[in-house]
Amino acid sequence: MSTHLTLAPSLESFITAMPKVELHLHLEGTMQPATLLRIAERNHVELPAYNVEGVTQLFNYHHFHEFLSVFMVLARALKRGEDFELLAYELGHHLADQNVRYAEVMVSAFQYYSRGIDLSEVVQGAMAGFTRAERERGTPVRLAFDYGRQFGAETAWKVLELAIQNMRYGLVAWSIGGDEVNYPPQLFAEVFAAARQAGLRVMAHAGEVVGPASVWGAVDVLGCQRIGHGIRSIDDPALLAHLHAHNVVLDISPSSNVCTGAVPTIEAHPLRRLYDAGISITLNTDDPTFFKTTLNDEYRLAAQVFGFDAGELAQLALNAARAAFLPEAERVALLERVETELAALRDMVE
Ligand SMILES: [Zn+2]
Repeated sequence: MSTHLTLAPSLESFITAMPKVELHLHLEGTMQPATLLRIAERNHVELPAYNVEGVTQLFNYHHFHEFLSVFMVLARALKRGEDFELLAYELGHHLADQNVRYAEVMVSAFQYYSRGIDLSEVVQGAMAGFTRAERERGTPVRLAFDYGRQFGAETAWKVLELAIQNMRYGLVAWSIGGDEVNYPPQLFAEVFAAARQAGLRVMAHAGEVVGPASVWGAVDVLGCQRIGHGIRSIDDPALLAHLHAHNVVLDISPSSNVCTGAVPTIEAHPLRRLYDAGISITLNTDDPTFFKTTLNDEYRLAAQVFGFDAGELAQLALNAARAAFLPEAERVALLERVETELAALRDMVE
């Protein structure tokens, strides 16, 4: 989502140049129409459109459920390790273009599991693409499985088992997404406990469509340290106090929230209010192709619509570096790198 307000040139340059970390991003939501067509063609998968214009049109939708179904139709084109490698390679370059120093990327594991696709091939394919891009551009990426709540807890156990087997290849986290209305966090309490027990880090989409109860569940019942969206937390002062006290991070994607109707307008988004309440928030794109955004655009929005200054934008990048699901020594090294680069850049706007 791009806005047309102009920023001071020094702030615009600061946003472009600043080192960033992205923590809430779906691999399938980053694919470019031309790449999707290429993959569908070589896999002999029929899409509802046959050219770039037609596929681009598919990325226009009006409701959250419509978005989910388009997302799944497009995911059907992906079948083999090399498909994931191509998407990951392109994404690795795109992240480097935004000066992203580290990213965590979710894969919709059930989509492939249910079609009999080997999840190890998915993980290893994606990691091969990310590693190739990292060698060329220097941005490391780790993976998470995002499991659709609507597919139920029973199958989640099977997908979790495959997640645990793939930790050695760069899979660091387990998440749930999808239908938040009909599938509350409580259904997945034991699955999450097992994920944590195995050494996976955990997060959940919550407080995007459903109110504070969903976020409470994700934190208290599922043990999440990071929440995808969590914007409805703003409706519950006790929850805000709890998130603050326990340093729970909200990975927020403002353009996504407008596009799916989670907030009526960007001006109504609680981004600034959450920040002012002392919540550790991060900025993310979620599904940048669907939402026609980039991470730089999300930082611009924070500046243009919510008046974040350079120091506050730097804080958002630091929040993300601090919340990375990396082994402690790597996390500290990332944080130090981002701090050092930001300090050097701050001179630009002061
Ligand atoms: Zn998401």
